[in-house]
Amino acid sequence: MIFLKDNRLQSRQLCTMWTHYPELLRRPVPRYTSYPTAADFTDQVGAEDQALALQRVEPGTPLSLYVHIPFCEEICWYCGCNTARSNRPSRLAAYLDALHEEIALVAGLLGGHGRVRRIAFGGGSPNAIQPLDFVRLVGDMMVAFHAEDPLISLEIDPRHVSDDWIRVIRATKVRYASMGVQTFDPHVQEAIGRVQPRAQIERLTRSLRDAGIISLNFDLMYGLPRQNRAVLMETLEQAAALQPDRIALFGYAHVPSVIPRQRRIDASSLPDEAERFAMAALGHDFLVAQGYQPIGFDHFARPADPLAVAAREGRLHRNFQGFTDDESQYLIGFGASAISQFPELYAQNAKNAGHYRQAIAAGRLPTERGVARDPASRTCGKLINDILCQGIGEMPDHLTPSQSEMLEEFVQRGLITTGGGQVRLRPNAAPYVRTIAAIFDPRLAHKIGNFSAPV
Ligand code: SF4
Repeated sequence: MIFLKDNRLQSRQLCTMWTHYPELLRRPVPRYTSYPTAADFTDQVGAEDQALALQRVEPGTPLSLYVHIPFCEEICWYCGCNTARSNRPSRLAAYLDALHEEIALVAGLLGGHGRVRRIAFGGGSPNAIQPLDFVRLVGDMMVAFHAEDPLISLEIDPRHVSDDWIRVIRATKVRYASMGVQTFDPHVQEAIGRVQPRAQIERLTRSLRDAGIISLNFDLMYGLPRQNRAVLMETLEQAAALQPDRIALFGYAHVPSVIPRQRRIDASSLPDEAERFAMAALGHDFLVAQGYQPIGFDHFARPADPLAVAAREGRLHRNFQGFTDDESQYLIGFGASAISQFPELYAQNAKNAGHYRQAIAAGRLPTERGVARDPASRTCGKLINDILCQGIGEMPDHLTPSQSEMLEEFVQRGLITTGGGQVRLRPNAAPYVRTIAAIFDPRLAHKIGNFSAPV
């Protein structure tokens, strides 16, 4: 049972199945948007490897494309994304030129092979570019890759969406949109350097629905400065009232030594680990009570949303964009820091936008690093994906004594069961899913990455 300190909320106490075992959450673990993770990428993988992978794509192979726009009109203090201010039009124009050239390069290497099913725009904030530039990008990709009616999705900074952007979203048939909301509380907004009145979110929600968006996601955060369960509850209620199809509830990771812009956040006003856990549990319970289906460990979707349907049908996957119903084995990333995924390879473009542009100007793919996916890592990646997405996985043939010991800790607490060659997560294991998956990650024992607390 969660007990809220705020009396106004006592009547809304919610039952949770989650029990806090701090000893199981001490170890920072990857988010596993890939396996091997980006912490394993090296410069042993380069442009030639990616070119070969593109040339090996067979005719008709389903392809997903991702375009990274590393610019935002305003930079939020908590943000860990690869992004910079969009206040220099010449820099934006040079970046867009490079994107168009990269599209042509990749299309040439594919030689007409592959069928583009999805195009996702993320960042940064794709709406930091001009609406017409977005139309040109979509048009260029449709022509270069002979795409027919792909599912287009777009990340949006709600503070800067003009009427022209809404018109362009309708005209280009964007169908999925994801909006950074984070919190509705004005004091918390101030503390994270992201002020956006509720009325702005309400208006944009209506406009996006009118423009044809069929799946609308709100990103929310817990563990923010000046936030406690009562404050989070207000945000959850206001978010649910706007009826987004999906809600992602992320825990804020405060690592100013790695993300210098976070130094502007007052660490003394951050909630402690116990409060963070209670907030995550509150979010889970509230959203489930509102009719949302939990997806993986931090997503929630209305039962009719394609993500929820995919989860029920065992078709949920995890890729660089998080939990997804996208089943393609091929994801081609465009732009600075974008990651491409092939069955045999992960390859990441240069993170620095200047280096990215230089490579393109030299007529080269801007691949900077990556990792080969050998059969052992693919088997391990499947197990980790199955645990995160399906809550069940095939036990490896051999476990080290340390792995067996770690698993036993979860068995003893009733969080998992093992038997019949399988590991099965119980419903109360949600906050521990990444930690359980990490037990099967042989690379993690030798790695000190910039991983985050599991909750
Ligand atoms: S708008 Fe989004 S991507 Fe841009 S700085 Fe804020 S959180 Fe980061």
